[in-house]
Amino acid sequence: MATSPRVVVIGAGVVGCALADELTQRGWTDVTVVEQGAVAAPGGSSSHAPGLVFQTNGSRTMASLAAYTATKLGSLTAAGRPAYTAVGGLEVATTPERLAELHRRQGWNTAWGIESRVVDPGECARLHPLLDVGAVLGGLHVPSDGLADAPAACEAQLDRARARGARVLDRTRVTGITRTAGAGRARVTGVETDGGTVPAGVVVCCAGFWGAAVGAMVGLAVPLQPMAHQYARTGQVRSLAGSGDGLALPILRHQDADLYYRRHGDRMGIGYYGHRPMPVGTDDLASEESGPMPSMLPFTEDDFADAWTESRLLLPGLADTKVEDGFNGIFSFTPDGSPLLGEHAELSGFWLAEAVWVTHSAGVGRAVAEWIVDGTPGTDLHECDLHRFSGGQLSPAYVRARGCQSFVEVYDIIHPHDRVSDPVGLRTSPFHHRQVELGAVFGEASGWERPLWHEANAPLLERHGLTVPERDDWASRWWSPIAAAEAHATRNRVAMYDMTPLMRLEVSGPGALALLQRLCTNQIDKSVGSVTYSLLLDGTGGVRSDVTVARLGEQRFQVGVNGPLDLDWVQRHLPDDHSVVVRDVTGGTCCVGVWGPLARDLVQPLTSTDVSHTALKFFRARELYVGAVPVTALRVSYVGELGWELYASAEHGALLWDTLYRAGAPLGVVAGGRLAFNGLRLEKGYRAWGTDMTAEHDPYEAGLGFAVRPDKGDFVGRAAIKGRSEASATRRLTCLTLDDPGDVVLGREPVRLDGTPVGYVTSAGYGYTVGRCIAYAWLPSQVAAVGTALTIDWFGRRLPATVAAEPLVDPEMARIRR
Ligand code: FAD
Repeated sequence: MATSPRVVVIGAGVVGCALADELTQRGWTDVTVVEQGAVAAPGGSSSHAPGLVFQTNGSRTMASLAAYTATKLGSLTAAGRPAYTAVGGLEVATTPERLAELHRRQGWNTAWGIESRVVDPGECARLHPLLDVGAVLGGLHVPSDGLADAPAACEAQLDRARARGARVLDRTRVTGITRTAGAGRARVTGVETDGGTVPAGVVVCCAGFWGAAVGAMVGLAVPLQPMAHQYARTGQVRSLAGSGDGLALPILRHQDADLYYRRHGDRMGIGYYGHRPMPVGTDDLASEESGPMPSMLPFTEDDFADAWTESRLLLPGLADTKVEDGFNGIFSFTPDGSPLLGEHAELSGFWLAEAVWVTHSAGVGRAVAEWIVDGTPGTDLHECDLHRFSGGQLSPAYVRARGCQSFVEVYDIIHPHDRVSDPVGLRTSPFHHRQVELGAVFGEASGWERPLWHEANAPLLERHGLTVPERDDWASRWWSPIAAAEAHATRNRVAMYDMTPLMRLEVSGPGALALLQRLCTNQIDKSVGSVTYSLLLDGTGGVRSDVTVARLGEQRFQVGVNGPLDLDWVQRHLPDDHSVVVRDVTGGTCCVGVWGPLARDLVQPLTSTDVSHTALKFFRARELYVGAVPVTALRVSYVGELGWELYASAEHGALLWDTLYRAGAPLGVVAGGRLAFNGLRLEKGYRAWGTDMTAEHDPYEAGLGFAVRPDKGDFVGRAAIKGRSEASATRRLTCLTLDDPGDVVLGREPVRLDGTPVGYVTSAGYGYTVGRCIAYAWLPSQVAAVGTALTIDWFGRRLPATVAAEPLVDPEMARIRR
């Protein structure tokens, strides 16, 4: 009889208990939950969490994790106590800006399939009678939001796991992780505890804010910052007294003042994110010394003063009571606010499920269980993947600064293009100082400073008679009409784009080709000098990345990837025979994209190598010199114009830029930024992985079937996509254009057909060549026909849009192939 693998789950908080339940439900019943505290009240964040579950989230992944949690916990009870009560959630606006934001949030809910509506002040007061109707401008009501009883959720899920064979070792602290010795990738073999060793082939760290300490036992940097957060309870509120549960108040958020509320019988609970950030150091996280509730620090009353003033303004009924008790509770924050999920890169079988709110706990439990048992999570988790950070983003200084900022921003209105404000300048390309001279306005991605546009290009608008429709306040943030001038220069003359932040790997050695053939959907076994666009699929056929592979030698490849997750994926597939070496060469190199009809006029005079169309064909690579700089030129273009990506080592970067820029001056070269770039790539229909498609989509649905060569031999995901085709896809990534040239959307908005939601926008941007906003959207195939009239929600308005044939610009590829 097959036996299930031995699993140790570290921590009996709401995440560990959910995972134990989900694992045992999948037949992995040899599960031991090891908990340092007493299981009835272990002392982590879950032991005292007030348990508000607001599902609304701009991330489709996070919203779906929350929706599953609400549904699952709604079906569970522990000793008669419901694990979840759907009292509804109400977020109120006290400023016009917040009211607009609530409409945007309602759009997310519609896009992700969560019922909600924006209601007027009267309806807010009807839903929550303690509210001062005159203080609010409106609210967002989500009927399925509610209150989780985290201890009950723990008990109910743990009981089910136990009934299936799981056991619990409480009052037992994990002090170390054991592993295999010898050559090859190490595997976990169990955990050491203060009560002895527990053998296991899989160990999952669900240790809450102790996660970094457990990670340190296996040399894993866990970018998690424990923060203290204030929660208080009032004394009796007269209007609640005697009303029992008859007055089932919705949970309430007053985000303009960083506050949230729930009812505790005849008292109110108040949580506050407006106080100074209070990072908690690892050394302060003692265990035995801190008593039975190490996650509760003493209440610092002064920090709560503003919260109490604001609360009495919003809820006048609190005037006759006072703050009776409170505490500063600890929980985890990460650099981008999302959880940390996944398996250790160098220690097989050691997993992490950290920085998870009660709100997402059951969803995370399910996804991580599926990932461990089946090899892939059933949900796209790239935003939560443990390996999404790299380099300086893992430094304690960065994690602390970002953790504090994430805390401050919990309830802030965040624009999709808002950038990290602290720390600034973590990663800059060798062209940075030139970009600053050109008045670059920088955005940030993965720590990189990236120009959005350059103020120096402003005069080009008038010079070329370019007019750009005005935008509303929201759409004009992090935007400038100068992007139109940079796009115009790219389509009509030539532009230089800093492509340095595009991560690249060098994959080399006798086994390099075989490895890439195994991972890539496209044919990589081509001549030296070939460049190939390919997908990386997971075992279910989902698109886990797209890459550009340049064969620079028989056994040497440069692979342009989407980020650290791809490096992790490639490393996990390395053969044990050391026949392949993978190096992240991003930081030591740089790249300029030179694109436009005059690109050859710019580059050819600078090199003795023939870069004519016939000598260096489209999708070919060549090593050459540009002036004095050794360069690898890839004839590819993400903007749909003639040109090359020119790669050089970082120390040559400044000279490369200056050489090109000087030579381009008579041709009218400009430095282009991300805004122009995004619009140009959308005009060409080039997808952005992570936004347009993820592991939840197969290549055919995403319109990327051309990059799959099932006949080339086996590759990861091939069996799963067998028999699938674009014709049989039931949903499609679809190109829409907005009918009114003045309308703009930014992404994540719902798309409607005759008023009924049918899909959602992935990425959007202004196509300056086509003179309107372009939005890609996931739609059912039957409504994806060219010409279909749809609408896209925009702050409560419905903007007309039409399905368009793609690509919108140069479908014949004549501009690139010349
Ligand atoms: P924990 O509940 O902390 O569990 C981790 C467990 O691991 C602990 O029991 C610990 O004892 C054990 N452990 C750690 N190290 C070891 C070791 N070496 N050996 C053995 N055992 C170990 N979330 C919401 O969704 N809604 C809210 O309204 C909400 N309000 C909050 C209010 C406050 C004041 C606080 C502090 C948090 C709030 N949260 C809320 C966040 C939420 O409580 C946490 O994110 C969640 O409970 C974390 O669950 P967990 O299982 O990961 O961690």
